[in-house]
Amino acid sequence: MTSLTIRPLNTGFVTTVPAQYLFHHSVHPYVEGATHDRVEIPDFAFLVEGGEELVLVDTGMSWTERASTYHHPGSHQPPGMAIHERLAALGIRCEDIGVIAITHLHWDHSYYLEKFTNATIYVHERELAFAENPIPMYYKSYENEAIGITPHFAGVDFTTVAGGRELIPGVRVFETHGHSPGHLSVEVDTAAGNFVCSGDSIFCPENLEPIPELGYDITPPGRYVDAIGMWNSIVAQRDRVADPSFILGAHDRPLLDRIRETPVLGLV
Ligand SMILES: [Zn+2]
Repeated sequence: MTSLTIRPLNTGFVTTVPAQYLFHHSVHPYVEGATHDRVEIPDFAFLVEGGEELVLVDTGMSWTERASTYHHPGSHQPPGMAIHERLAALGIRCEDIGVIAITHLHWDHSYYLEKFTNATIYVHERELAFAENPIPMYYKSYENEAIGITPHFAGVDFTTVAGGRELIPGVRVFETHGHSPGHLSVEVDTAAGNFVCSGDSIFCPENLEPIPELGYDITPPGRYVDAIGMWNSIVAQRDRVADPSFILGAHDRPLLDRIRETPVLGLV
């Protein structure tokens, strides 16, 4: 029995509009936070320690100028928050990371991959295929030569997966497509129970709440490529954990407060 732990590492702040991204328009009348104001959300990667290899779930966002110019204006990566700087502060070099699981290849989840020269980098085969040849509506999300920028993942040697796979004992990826065509979530067995790093398949804890007035058993987010996949993968992930607090979203605002008290999750 391994004793894995999870350390959320915030790599910066992305500006977003809750009513567009976090909540589907049908639920706006029932959700207090579904505002049209521009807000900042964190951008987490997760370091899994204690196993056969050091594992990263995602590598977070780009530097400020790139983020704000090409992506969401106002997004920023304060000094020291890039993934390699976060790891260095823990005494970990990029070369020490053995496994990286990419939830999806959007710009705010998979930057700086070229620094991880010893890692096996897993991504879903459908995600990679779409990222390399997206419809124009997604040129910005994945970055594309068509808009004058070389994708951040160009030249990276990926290992593709389809379905689920155990990456090391106690760490498994499984399909949660919907937000993107080949989205993966990552399940991590810890002494406290199994956690799920849900990437952008679940934006905020409210997405797990029912809306009784509508007969909804979840509160769907507003940003997805496939509504049915999005819906079913949220329900499936909620069913997979003992308690919603075991789901760790990449843009989970309450997690910022939680890690001030508990920087390492999974301990008992
Ligand atoms: Zn994201």
